[in-house]
Order: sequence, then structure tokens, then C-alpha cells
Amino acid sequence: MSQNFTARAIEKSVLQAPSPTDEAQMLEHGFTEQDWRRLLISLGKNPDRAGLVETSSRVAKAWKHWTSGYAKDPAECLNIFEDGAQEYNELIVLRGIPVYSHCEHHLAPFFGSATIGYVPNGKIVGLSKLTHLVDCFAHRLQMQERLTIQIANALMTHLEPQAVGVVIRCRHLCIKSRGIRTH
Ligand SMILES: [Zn+2]
Repeated sequence: MSQNFTARAIEKSVLQAPSPTDEAQMLEHGFTEQDWRRLLISLGKNPDRAGLVETSSRVAKAWKHWTSGYAKDPAECLNIFEDGAQEYNELIVLRGIPVYSHCEHHLAPFFGSATIGYVPNGKIVGLSKLTHLVDCFAHRLQMQERLTIQIANALMTHLEPQAVGVVIRCRHLCIKSRGIRTH
């Protein structure tokens, strides 16, 4: 289990709104089902046999979903509201937010859960929107440390709270499956 914790106080970090990256564009325009067929062939498999005939298109679709966060804007994931939020100044915590991501070092899945807490400063966000924010960054090639910081920074930038804390605990397939203890 790998755990990361990021806390941000009033000091604000600036996060650029993401634009579609080279990776997403390559996936969209350059890397196709044919490439996944070639992978199967390189493993000595017949991509046309019954069990594998749909695999290439399924994997292509799955990777489109797993990298869909590149095309998303964190500000749009958060539907921030100010009306009636002025009286909230207590710590708000959401636990058990599912995290499904892929490490950029092995393209292997890592998954677990996130806890997000913040002390509002006149703006709050619907709890389900925090889940969307996590997905926005998790559906990219990631490092767990960077994922944690990106979520905290996006909240500081768009929600402007008094303080933010993000804790992420995940299992990494690339570590567990190969018996490696550090990433
Ligand atoms: Zn890895």
C-alpha cells in the first residue's frame, strides 16, 4: 500500500488548465486497434480466434476511457457554488472516493481510495463533484504523488478554501505483481 498526503494552506499554487496532450492525441489519431492486434501477434496469439477477435477493439476503447481525463477541465468537473455557502466554515471531509489510474512507468493499473478534506472560504462544492475531480486526474497516465498534488492544487485554485488536505492510498499492480516494494 502506498500512501500520499498533500496539504495546502492559504498559499496558492497555480495550475494550468490542461489542454489535450500529445499522448491523448496519439491515442486518438495514431494508435489503433491494429496496434493492439500486433501486440497479440507478437505474443504468439492469433487475434482472429474466437476469444480474441473483439479484444483489440475492446482494449482500444478501454484505453480511451482510462485516458479520458486529458480532455477534461478540472474547473468544469467542480460545480462550485457560492449561494448560501458563506456560513459554512467547518471542515468538510469526503472519504472513500474510488481511485482508478495507470502508472506512467509501466502503464499498469493502480487503484485504491482518496480522502479529501477542506475548510471552505465562501465556496463549497457538491460531494459528487470531488469524485469527478479525482477521475479527471486519475484517468491520465500518473504517478500517485503527482495525482495527489494535482487534486489539492485544483481545489486551491478553483475553490479557494482556507485549507485543503488530500490523502490517497493505492495498490500498484507493477509493484505487487513483481514483488517490488518501492515504486
Ligand atoms: Zn509502475
